[in-house]
Amino acid sequence: MQGDDRWVLAVDVGCQRLSAGLVSATGQMVVRDRVTTPTRHVWSALELLVRRVVAARSAEHDRIGWCGVTCEGPIEQPAGKVSPLSMPALQGFELRERISELTDIDAVLETRGNGRAMAERWFGGHDPDDADHMIVVIASESVDGGVIVDGQVVHGRTGNAGNVAHVLVELDDGLACLCGGSGCLMPYVSTRALEAEINRPLRRAPASIRERTGVMLGRAIATAASSFDSRLALIGGATVAGLGPELTEVVARETAQRAKLSHLQDLRVDTVALGPEGPLLGAAVSALSRARR
Ligand SMILES: [Zn+2]
Repeated sequence: MQGDDRWVLAVDVGCQRLSAGLVSATGQMVVRDRVTTPTRHVWSALELLVRRVVAARSAEHDRIGWCGVTCEGPIEQPAGKVSPLSMPALQGFELRERISELTDIDAVLETRGNGRAMAERWFGGHDPDDADHMIVVIASESVDGGVIVDGQVVHGRTGNAGNVAHVLVELDDGLACLCGGSGCLMPYVSTRALEAEINRPLRRAPASIRERTGVMLGRAIATAASSFDSRLALIGGATVAGLGPELTEVVARETAQRAKLSHLQDLRVDTVALGPEGPLLGAAVSALSRARR
């Protein structure tokens, strides 16, 4: 792939933002555009955005070889459908097929969490010994996660493996979750749920909320780490940014208290390395990693 002059058309579908861009095989981004996700007519907005990005490329970047698309889960593989919890307009939507028709390229679909995990693995600059056995949790308005085991992202039967958003973190009177259950991680760490609960922006959250958010993330990470034999847990997203570095300290403390097995003693908690480019790099790596196989 190194030295290949073809570009990846990367498309990311989130409940707050739709993004599209052109990314090289080495992670260089040359064209990037985004729009706020509308409540209705999401596909029309996405179609316009993708057309605009394709039209904006220069002659130097005209060879598009792959297309990767990431979407908030759950997704349905191998059908290529999506039913994102926070986006009622896209329930059962055949996203992979529609993007493939639009671009004339066989698109690869992944959850946003799996995309982010792969992007951190490929482009995050982490020690490969850590990144080959890694959990990534992105807590923003939605909560996405992915798990890398032996250097490979875990997909599962329908493509949704590795998302810790619905790991049970509170068994007694747990908060209601968008999935229909209660006590999942998601309502404890999503910006939408937290800001509705405290009725103010996250950066002004009381210390008790920061503590609880960190404890719940730590519980989910310890559970996932013991299941997947992980060595590194990365957290990111608007919740992590909004609650500041103290949150990461709480997560690390709680994770260490919960993960007592001897092989988990070197499990480390850190923040994601990739910034705003993370979602599109995730979509790009989804396509590149498939092309490599
Ligand atoms: Zn849930």
